[in-house]
Amino acid sequence: MLGQIRIVMIHTTHPGNIGGVARAMQNMGLTDLCLVAPKRFPDPEADARASGATDLLASAKVVETLDEALDGCHLVVGTSARDRHIPWPVITPRQMASVACDLQPGKRMAILFGREDRGLTNDELHRCHHHVHIPTNPDFSSLNVAAAVQVIAYELRIASLESEPGLLPQWGTAWDIDLADARETELLFEHLEKTLVGVEFLDPDNPRQLMTRLRRLFLRAVPDRVEVNVMRGFLSAIDKVLARNPRMKGEEKNDV
Ligand code: SAH
Repeated sequence: MLGQIRIVMIHTTHPGNIGGVARAMQNMGLTDLCLVAPKRFPDPEADARASGATDLLASAKVVETLDEALDGCHLVVGTSARDRHIPWPVITPRQMASVACDLQPGKRMAILFGREDRGLTNDELHRCHHHVHIPTNPDFSSLNVAAAVQVIAYELRIASLESEPGLLPQWGTAWDIDLADARETELLFEHLEKTLVGVEFLDPDNPRQLMTRLRRLFLRAVPDRVEVNVMRGFLSAIDKVLARNPRMKGEEKNDV
């Protein structure tokens, strides 16, 4: 999907921002950058901010009009920091990434980014199927254009990784230690219950929901085998102290 995305920067004033965009794109695995009538490009400031993403910068296509930039694109989305006079369907970057995942093979989506000072014109926004707004603080809504590209490119990357099973780290596969299996986990809970009865925290005649709540707490952590063993070791240490002081209970009762 990432190969189907074209980033279009319109009338960018600061070459540093173009470099910043190239870097963000390369970080996130995007490759197609199109510049519509940039004020200064190529420029050493762009190279400096690209910080190594120089091939991507060199391959950027420079055109004079938006029509040329949209050549071969089937879906167009425009990014905007603020509400416009005539409201358009506004989606979040995440929703936009899901739209991108649904692109038919071979079809391209252009994402438009506006001028640093004025954003996209209404005419440009009216070329778009959707508008994307990064949900910023309404009192301070405008991001630097390269930062806006970074956010959008990140969402595209996540969506693209999620659409291919096995690419995002998953519990149990990327984890350094095997997850505890159901039997080991059950043994932990049995042990915990026994020790809690031993220390008289759990009353077997009136257990209420204590074990249920503790199960939920531990299971929420999805413990691995070592973590379960550490817990079992900890419980065994308590059991040992209890066994060594069989009269602890009686003494406590005498104190009362
Ligand atoms: N002052 C301009 C903002 C320009 S910021 C205005 O009011 O429109 C430059 C570009 O960064 C915008 O055109 C847009 O492409 C992108 N951008 C900045 N903040 C954004 C946001 N919150 N959501 C989506 N895009 C944003």
